Amino acid sequence: MAQAITRRHLVDRFGRHVDYVRISVTDRCDFRCVYCMSEQMEFLPRQQLLTLEELGTVARAFTELGVVKLRITGGEPLVRHNIVALLEQLGQLPGLGELVLTTNGSQLPRYAAQLRKAGVRRINISLDSLRAERFRRMSRRGDLHKVLEGIAAARAVGFERIKLNAVILKGYNQDEVCALANFAGERGLDISYIEEMPLGSVDGHNRADTYYSSDHILADLRQQFTLEESDYATGGPAHYYRNVQTGTHIGLISPHSHNFCASCNRVRLTCEGRLLLCLGQEHSRDLRPVVRARPFSMAALKQTIHEAMHIKPRGHEFQLQGEPVIMRHMNLTGG
Ligand code: SAM
Ligand code: SF4
Repeated sequence: MAQAITRRHLVDRFGRHVDYVRISVTDRCDFRCVYCMSEQMEFLPRQQLLTLEELGTVARAFTELGVVKLRITGGEPLVRHNIVALLEQLGQLPGLGELVLTTNGSQLPRYAAQLRKAGVRRINISLDSLRAERFRRMSRRGDLHKVLEGIAAARAVGFERIKLNAVILKGYNQDEVCALANFAGERGLDISYIEEMPLGSVDGHNRADTYYSSDHILADLRQQFTLEESDYATGGPAHYYRNVQTGTHIGLISPHSHNFCASCNRVRLTCEGRLLLCLGQEHSRDLRPVVRARPFSMAALKQTIHEAMHIKPRGHEFQLQGEPVIMRHMNLTGG
């Protein structure tokens, strides 16, 4: 009973229950994916980032307010120094049902076993192309072979679920939709396809020109696979299908073509400690001064988080044409 009351703690003006937080632990990354960053990025000075201890404190406040799922992301979370120590700490938070991670996979050969041991149950690995040259073109710096090794390492250590994420861009990788589904299916992995979102300005392409809708992706997949509607749900924005040939799931994340805000159950913490109430809006509360206040008060931190729910907006307003409405890049926000 006590558990049920706790879970009801974070509720916004529209009656949506927030029980899922995505935490960006760094804005840095070893890749520069064309849809996520510019070629030349200036990263935040380190003192502006929450320390690992501060991240742990904020995460604990959330779980004490009924949050049951934490996703650690970035930037590339596995380039943050001592990230495993933070994950070990989070893995032991009372009340936390799921600790999950999103990564580009490049550091997984080194870290997969430690992550599993720390209590990470599920992992999302980004994979946009199976062709080494093209992979390099999209990530600007990535090495496909390292990522494939990382996927193999993750499979070997027995995560409960591994899901691949692919951002599909016309003129880059739209002809690999089925190849990626085959790759995933042959390995018993799920895969989600993501429409590019207009977060921050990017310098390599015009987003309106590269837009490839989920409807196109679905049509491509249906040329090769039999897809059944699935009620499989992770509480996220993906709409899932079951691939009859492989028995695995295929998700479509469509911020442009299908708005997913009505069932939103999540908020995000940027690596600087800004609590973002919506990925596609700027409504936020700065938690850094609260967590850095001396003396520190857990009650004040929880109160600030609680009050922030009142400014969670109804939904995002992504648009394809013109300047991005949101100037921050995805690496800051945590995808
Ligand atoms: N570095 C990790 C990775 O790439 O998986 C975690 C952070 S990354 C920001 C999280 C996810 O956001 C990735 O799957 C990435 O492909 C996706 N992403 C980044 N920028 C995006 C954008 N502008 N639109 C849609 N998805 C984006
Ligand atoms: Fe790095 Fe992930 Fe952004 Fe690619 S999508 S640049 S891997 S943070």
